[in-house]
Amino acid sequence: GVASGRGILLKSGDVLETAARVTDVVLDKTGTLTRGAPSVVGCFPVAPGWGEDEVLGLAAAVERKSEHVHARAIVEAARAGGGVADAEVSGFRAVPGRGVVASVELGSRAASAVLGSRLASAGGASRTSRVRVGNRGLLADEGIAVPVDALERAGALENEGHTVVWVGVDGRAVGFVALADAVRPETPAAIAALRARRLGLAVVSGDAAGPTARVAGALGIGRAEAEVTPQGKREVVEAMQRDGRRVLFAGDGVNDAPVLSQADLGVAVARGADVSLESADAVLVRDDLRLVPDLLRLGRRATNVIRGNLFWAFAYNVAGIPLAVAGALHPLVAAAAMAASSLFV
Ligand code: ADP
Ligand code: MG
Repeated sequence: GVASGRGILLKSGDVLETAARVTDVVLDKTGTLTRGAPSVVGCFPVAPGWGEDEVLGLAAAVERKSEHVHARAIVEAARAGGGVADAEVSGFRAVPGRGVVASVELGSRAASAVLGSRLASAGGASRTSRVRVGNRGLLADEGIAVPVDALERAGALENEGHTVVWVGVDGRAVGFVALADAVRPETPAAIAALRARRLGLAVVSGDAAGPTARVAGALGIGRAEAEVTPQGKREVVEAMQRDGRRVLFAGDGVNDAPVLSQADLGVAVARGADVSLESADAVLVRDDLRLVPDLLRLGRRATNVIRGNLFWAFAYNVAGIPLAVAGALHPLVAAAAMAASSLFV
């Protein structure tokens, strides 16, 4: 890595040149601007027969198979509370930017420890339910409607900056989990440094409008795009490029791979998923967003040095060649000047 001493790994020498020409910086929210280590602040059942522990315990049973930061928080909270439902989970599928889906054996005896006998053995025999854990888009994809009063409660929490994860069982929303994720302590300084460089700033997130606007607002970033899928993030950057902007995108997740490749300069933050590291042009080895303005400053300085040297190399030749042709320059001096100019560059 060219600049690994500063905590940045550059995939090629072109990165610095590109960095010098960046006009806009687009940032992922979760895990990039925020810590990406959310914690559960509450669990809210919205269907009759469902309690807090049951909603959380069932969500955790499915999320155990996911590596998403929300999944980790939900499993942790269930373990600390009423427990993770010990039900058989099959057909697990992650829907990027939306959540997870799986079949859960709800009627089993093991499941009843957490899910309660009423829920677990409803109808007596074991039954398989399709469980969905994720954002509203994930439920909407399956035509699952959410009761209006539940939407209002969730909306109020979102406006306070919380992320809401819905739990759907078969055709019905049974509850939601609210999570909070703090802005990283070094983020405000990083954003201030980018603003000082007069760059356009935007936040894109797969999260809902409430928490996305909240984080952008706290950092004074005017443009915030929420509920954006991984492909959507790529399209946001593509549209900016069509307007002649040169875009740096910084993000952490697997879901950021398409946009990291699309951006003029894709920067993956450390601890990010392997996939995102592969798609990036630069990797922040040290987990610190302030390295982004550092990288841009370095790029500017490097190209200024290159430009300065090119100028002197040309100046040498413009002055030297006519002199040499006229015989006013000793061939040895001319040769030395030529070598020196190449050395400069
Ligand atoms: P961001 O763009 O903010 O980094 P992601 O693209 O990783 O977020 O995820 C977007 C949204 O998808 C999350 O805010 C969450 O609502 C939902 N989501 C994705 N995976 C999961 C999961 N395993 N559990 C719950 N929600 C999930
Ligand atoms: Mg992210």
